[in-house]
Amino acid sequence: MIDVAIVGCGPVGALLANLLGPSGLTVEVFEREAELWRLPRAVHFDGEVMRIFQAAGLAAEVARVAREGTRGMHFVNAEGRTLLVRGIAEGPGPQGWATSWYFHQPDLEGVLRAGLARYPNVRLHLRHEVLAIEQDASGARLRVGGPCGDATHATRYVVGCDGARSMLRRLIGGGDYDLGLHQPWLVADLLLKRDLGLPSWTVQHCNPARPMTEVCVTGQRRRWEIMLMPGDDPQGITAPERVWEFIGARVTPADAELERAALYTFHSVIARSWRDRRLLIAGDAAHQTPPFLGQGMCAGMRDAANLAWKLAAILRGAAPEALLDTYATERVPHARAFIELAVEIGALIQTTDARRAAERDKSFAQGEEQVFQFPAPPLGPGAHLGTAPAGRLFPQPRLGDGRRLDEAIGERFAVLGARAAIEGAGAAAARAWDVLGAARLPDPGGEAGAWLAARGLAAVLLRPDRYVFAAVQDAAALAAASLRLPGAPQP
Ligand SMILES: Cc1cc2nc3c(=O)[nH]c(=O)nc-3n(C[C@H](O)[C@H](O)[C@H](O)COP(=O)(O)OP(=O)(O)OC[C@H]3O[C@@H](n4cnc5c(N)ncnc54)[C@H](O)[C@@H]3O)c2cc1C
Repeated sequence: MIDVAIVGCGPVGALLANLLGPSGLTVEVFEREAELWRLPRAVHFDGEVMRIFQAAGLAAEVARVAREGTRGMHFVNAEGRTLLVRGIAEGPGPQGWATSWYFHQPDLEGVLRAGLARYPNVRLHLRHEVLAIEQDASGARLRVGGPCGDATHATRYVVGCDGARSMLRRLIGGGDYDLGLHQPWLVADLLLKRDLGLPSWTVQHCNPARPMTEVCVTGQRRRWEIMLMPGDDPQGITAPERVWEFIGARVTPADAELERAALYTFHSVIARSWRDRRLLIAGDAAHQTPPFLGQGMCAGMRDAANLAWKLAAILRGAAPEALLDTYATERVPHARAFIELAVEIGALIQTTDARRAAERDKSFAQGEEQVFQFPAPPLGPGAHLGTAPAGRLFPQPRLGDGRRLDEAIGERFAVLGARAAIEGAGAAAARAWDVLGAARLPDPGGEAGAWLAARGLAAVLLRPDRYVFAAVQDAAALAAASLRLPGAPQP
């Protein structure tokens, strides 16, 4: 019997399989395509996602195919005035990595797929399409069509990482929250033949005559995203001569090779239901966002990180199945916060009425550019004790010995704080940490110690995905919180 069957090996399915690899569980990934998806899609991920790649043991490999963003994202009006900037931290941000990274999606997916070869318990089946799924109390059965015909596989859980047209989302049912934005855009990837002095940062051209996005990806790669206007005929719009019509004022066929172009409708939706007993969804199967913040795949990567430790704990018998109920309650509000901001930013970029665009421009103060940051929303209610900073991501500072925090504590629960609180929490708490394999980091000092001191905290309990389970002010509270960790033995 398979422990976890993953339907779809896009970035989210591939990452989930990598995160489950060290658990020793039997993981089978079914992907209907023979090759990596070649259409232009994600180009950006953030520091939290890099930290998740670190957890998957792939940060160095990913860093080799990605570049750090240095200048943020600039929203520029038709006259070339910068209205707004998405700011980024200089050097490593709170997650221990640069806050913005740029990459070519097939390169990243190549790294994630190669990572699977490290685990004999994880198998990828290319050219295998999941055709039907049924489930009962003992598990689920998948009918899978492959080059040698159809076969049936029994599994304990199925995770649909099967993209925007997800079969699993249909099977789970429940409909979507629709956040209102549905707009066609033409997306083109180019390879520059020479240096044209183009910006090395992302430019959102908030021009009512033709909203566009221009991205410096990696090396000679550039991305253009071009909004379709009401009169545009989408028929044949991806043909090279049509694409050059849009971008020819800035770059011509003499300057660059048009690698690929595709027409997308950007959506803003979240599935209402992410689980039905043995079936779950993650990634685009669960939510879709317009890409104005470069956050669609990022949300999927966070889904994978949230789900991996929970599935592993349940399948090892170390936590009750009810832990899976917290997956959607935690992730839906978090994903929603990013999508709502992307819709808001989308309204800014997609204004096509000249008068409203002029009012918009006026609303931004002249002179100083307005700066905004990505949101850092808390998780919704779930496997944490609720009061902030519980439910929020703990930062990843460097420790006194130079290591990043996660290198020191590993991918498991951790207790971090004053030695007196850790030692004073008592035998029942210590037993819970031992049973759960929790790392203990007494008197962490440095930035971690300063973080605790600034909040008047004696200690924090961290989950394997680095979200704070509980933040406490003394040993007695630490003892009580430790006994509420998922899977903690009761005295
Ligand atoms: C123009 C554009 C720009 C974007 N920019 C960004 C960005 O900068 N940053 C960002 O974070 N995100 C961005 N995104 C979003 C990002 O590309 C997606 O969120 C991400 O690719 C979703 O990954 P996924 O693994 O969930 O789904 P997918 O990548 O769609 O993978 C799903 C996989 O499932 C397989 N599959 C489906 N059904 C079956 C079945 N029945 N059996 C077997 N296999 C099946 C498919 O073949 C596919 O390989 C962008 C998207 C677009 C369109």
